[in-house]
Amino acid sequence: MSVNESNYIDGVWRPAAAGGTREVLDPADASTLAVVAESDAADTDAAIDAARRAFDAGDWPATPVAERAEVLRRVAGLLQRDREEIALTESRDTGKTLEEGRVDVDDVTAAFRYFADLVVNETGRVVDAGSAEVHSVVTHEPVGVCAMITPWNYPLLQASWKVAPALAAGDTLVLKPSEVTPLSTIHLFRLLAEAGVPAGVANLVTGAGDPVGARMSEHPDVDLVSFTGGLPSGVKVAQAAVPTVKKLALELGGKNPNVVFADACATEEGFDTAVDQALNAAFIHSGQVCSAGARLIVEESVRDRFVAELVARAQRIRLGRGTEEGVECGPLVSRQQLEKTEAYVAGALAEGATLRCGGARPEPSEKRPASGYFYLPTVLDHCTREMTVIREETFGPILTVETFRTEDEAVALANDTEYGLAGAVFSRDTARARRVAGRLRHGTVWINDFHPYLPQAEWGGFGKSGIGRELGPHGLAEYRETKHVYENLRPAPVRWFGG
Ligand code: NAD
Repeated sequence: MSVNESNYIDGVWRPAAAGGTREVLDPADASTLAVVAESDAADTDAAIDAARRAFDAGDWPATPVAERAEVLRRVAGLLQRDREEIALTESRDTGKTLEEGRVDVDDVTAAFRYFADLVVNETGRVVDAGSAEVHSVVTHEPVGVCAMITPWNYPLLQASWKVAPALAAGDTLVLKPSEVTPLSTIHLFRLLAEAGVPAGVANLVTGAGDPVGARMSEHPDVDLVSFTGGLPSGVKVAQAAVPTVKKLALELGGKNPNVVFADACATEEGFDTAVDQALNAAFIHSGQVCSAGARLIVEESVRDRFVAELVARAQRIRLGRGTEEGVECGPLVSRQQLEKTEAYVAGALAEGATLRCGGARPEPSEKRPASGYFYLPTVLDHCTREMTVIREETFGPILTVETFRTEDEAVALANDTEYGLAGAVFSRDTARARRVAGRLRHGTVWINDFHPYLPQAEWGGFGKSGIGRELGPHGLAEYRETKHVYENLRPAPVRWFGG
């Protein structure tokens, strides 16, 4: 496959029909990593037609569940076979560290295995109809043709949370990865073919949100749109999907609070853990994580000590090319993301925040060329809920600090967001930690931890963080229709009407 043949339609790798191409850049130095197809609405239509035919006339929807599960397990095995190669691709393409790339491949493998196991056990149920003369069952069927649109920060992971359950359910699909980071998804589709996913069942189209994603969202032959990305694009996708009443799953942004009570810092070990996790929460993948704990909300009595240690450690974070040994944070994904981060920091300072560290691009070096999109881990102190940097998702290495005095105040601050994706509470008072976790209006809440998720537990957001859930049983249910079949075992006239 020459690299610009990145559209996989009806089992064939092809370039864009009109010949369009796009350069994919290495964010560490802005050099060209690959050239891929830049598709248009006609390519998109061809992929949707292939998926439609495969659903309406192909074998996949009726393939026994155990066989589909076996294909998913083969994909999992192939992901592990290619683990190093995929991790390297993901690291180069997104800027994340190689180790993070490896973790992603393992997580993706786990998702394929999880849905393979789940689908053979979630087979529907017999319903007690209240009569021995009625047989009533609830069954699951595939939804149909699924359109999937994914973001640039966890390209492979976000794709797998959609592709694995959809294939398990018997759907057919068209996926559009982010135009910024399409390379690991191209690799995944090669593995799908190798694992035996039939032609037309899984189709890939590379290109921009508009026209490719926009066309997928409005196309009358698409039954479901599953979108992961930012709120503004998610709203456009939803608007495009409504006239044809498509099923809709949206995984959008987050503005995630990390609430630290003073009691969590009462011992040296507790203090060290809370500071360490606050750094992980905010700076993993340079903060380009939907669940990033970008808002530190710390009890006032420990603020000075906590922030001083946080700043000292943030200044020691080793920034460089993600593929290089010992690097802890890579570059931001694109020039646009770098400039957005700079604008948020400038805005916060103008609104009265105090810069404690970072706030600039690093001095260029051999490890961090000036052409790369590097930005120093940044801590902004004395932030208030009115500031733009507190209200909006910055998606960069910016940690803001707010303080509270009472539990009620902490909860009010943590819930004061239009989003509701994730949040954490650090406290060694178990009752308090659970009480606060119960009051947080977020889809995932961590107690004394930050970031872990499990394929068997639902992931998704309250509020404007989205609609629906990925992972867990609910993550499979998104890709299935539910049908009730009621069978009368002793048919006879009911004589409701006269005769
Ligand atoms: P984005 O919204 O810019 O793009 C996401 C995808 O949508 C891309 O493939 C893009 O090409 C496509 N797109 C853009 N405009 C479109 C349109 N009009 N119609 C259809 N598709 C369109 O987001 P991004 O910058 O790639 O990713 C970052 C965002 O993703 C952040 O807001 C982050 O929080 C969110 N995200 C959420 C989760 C989650 O699980 N909730 C996970 C990862 C990322």
